[in-house]
Amino acid sequence: MRTIGLIGGMSWNSSLEYYRIINESIQEKLGGLHSARCILYSVDFGELGKLQREGKWEELAGLMVEAAERLQGAGADCIVICTNTMHKLADDIESSINIPLIHIADATGDEIRKSGLSRVALLGTKFTMEEDFYKTRLQQKYGVEVVIPGQRERQAIHDIIYDELCLGVIRQSSAEIVTAAIRGLIAGGAEGVILGCTELPLLITQESIEVPVFDTTAIHAQAAVDFGLRAS
Ligand code: GLU
Repeated sequence: MRTIGLIGGMSWNSSLEYYRIINESIQEKLGGLHSARCILYSVDFGELGKLQREGKWEELAGLMVEAAERLQGAGADCIVICTNTMHKLADDIESSINIPLIHIADATGDEIRKSGLSRVALLGTKFTMEEDFYKTRLQQKYGVEVVIPGQRERQAIHDIIYDELCLGVIRQSSAEIVTAAIRGLIAGGAEGVILGCTELPLLITQESIEVPVFDTTAIHAQAAVDFGLRAS
């Protein structure tokens, strides 16, 4: 088994999910007492979240590169960034290491392609929904048309992520707000929905949504498992 290197802590609530899903999957596949060979480098999100709000992405890139290099130095065979948003810095990270980076949008794009859907809604932080680093990759590499909620809904979802989900707070009223945004996008022609924030699956699950839901935490964690178990 190869060693999975995880950059976590953004937030720790979703890193827990990665750790659980990766270990459950390895145990299911290998049986017995098997569990994942992995190294977690968990950041202080108080520090990084502040830099995000201040738009200090160069400083953030330095911190993420440092995390990836430390994982590589500690023996990781790949890097998994346990957040969609920080993939904004994926190129900086990738160019600083010589082990593969398992990109969350690639893992998700592969799943969407397998499903045969061509128009999907993307929910996540404002960085992920509004900027190009995520949508463009899905559009150009996987031929997926990506639609996002309106400005007011984007702000509401962004605030729910940082003010509640990243703090471990799960509110029914927030689930209703996010579900309403998803329903609006479905009514507008979205055939599926990407939960493009690793905390969103703590709030929204497939059961309450009538189109296929792409849970990026589970999809990304599974891609890490596949890498770990693939013969090198
Ligand atoms: N975990 C979230 C994501 O998947 C948001 C936290 C962050 O800004 O990294 O985008």
